[in-house]
Amino acid sequence: MKINRKDFLKQSAASSLLLTSPISFFEKTIPKVDSSKRMRFSFKPYTLELKYVFTVSTLSRTTTPVMLTEIEYDGIVGYGEASMPPYLGESHESATKFLSKVDLSKYENPFELETILSDIDSIEKGNPAAKASVDIALHDLIGKLLNQPWYNIYGVNVKNTPFTVFTIGIDKPEVVRKKMLESTDFKIIKIKLGKDNDKEMIDTVCSMTDKPITADPNQGWTDRNYAIDMINYLKEKGALYVEQPLSKDRFDDLAWLKENSPIPILADEGVQRLSDIPKAKNIYSGINIKLMKSTGMREAYKMILLAKSLGMKVMLGCMTETSCAISAASQLSPLVDWADLDGATLIKNDLFEGAKIINGKVTPSNLPGIGIKKLQKS
Ligand code: MG
Repeated sequence: MKINRKDFLKQSAASSLLLTSPISFFEKTIPKVDSSKRMRFSFKPYTLELKYVFTVSTLSRTTTPVMLTEIEYDGIVGYGEASMPPYLGESHESATKFLSKVDLSKYENPFELETILSDIDSIEKGNPAAKASVDIALHDLIGKLLNQPWYNIYGVNVKNTPFTVFTIGIDKPEVVRKKMLESTDFKIIKIKLGKDNDKEMIDTVCSMTDKPITADPNQGWTDRNYAIDMINYLKEKGALYVEQPLSKDRFDDLAWLKENSPIPILADEGVQRLSDIPKAKNIYSGINIKLMKSTGMREAYKMILLAKSLGMKVMLGCMTETSCAISAASQLSPLVDWADLDGATLIKNDLFEGAKIINGKVTPSNLPGIGIKKLQKS
């Protein structure tokens, strides 16, 4: 029998379909959503013990309350965390109250990040860290269901992760010198400023290293002329940028500083969420995004894209956190200019193993999800 070209093509297409049926192919690769299965959400309070008393311009502390969350679905568990330094207003009590209202059992499809997290956001205003603890656990779960780390889902190369800073809190020179001895794994030193010993802090750090520095007065400077003098001094000493020099409400003075500063001025306290970015554009050169401010990875990702599209610099920061939230942030870090993700190195009682400092960079593991393993002791 003679087959014309058209029939031949039809037949071969049919036989190749039989060999690799698209249906069986997809059955293998796309996890099925079984509507009889539901997510189970749980949370418990935990307290991080800090290695050192941590002093910034506004206060000192030795512990940080956190909330640990889990979302279980089909035998797989996603982990999340809320870190709640007291000055930000969240606590074990407020997070318990908020998270008690989270009902994930009503969703059939755990992949509906946008739907689920928009619903969580609308439960109540505020509570950004509590919201982040759900967001991070859901991202971890989804990554594990897809068997991919989020850096692959975001489509970024972990080699592009910037160096992370090592933070030195405000202290006496002898304590600063002692802390500096722990900074050997890091390539950039961040100095907390904003009390009455700014130059002493800078000089002490610079007497021990030639590494680039950054500074964070946490809104502690009150006079813009003093601020610009200090910024020029920092620039001479090799500073890359300065975070939140003045109170976040001093719009005119911040705009003036941005115009006159030889190095970028980043908003930290001045920018919390996505909607804060457009108005920050005129008064800052960049923003410091933290998962605990942004309500988690989903909005942080949107913030990175928006800030970059507006020509702003982007830094990814953290609170004192376990390797859970730090590893979540590390998945996004290849997208940003600067990173400050040393939070897990500052605590004594981490519960997870995940992102590690490799050659000065907080580098995600190759595990799926946010890339963590729960340690046995927990
Ligand atoms: Mg800061």
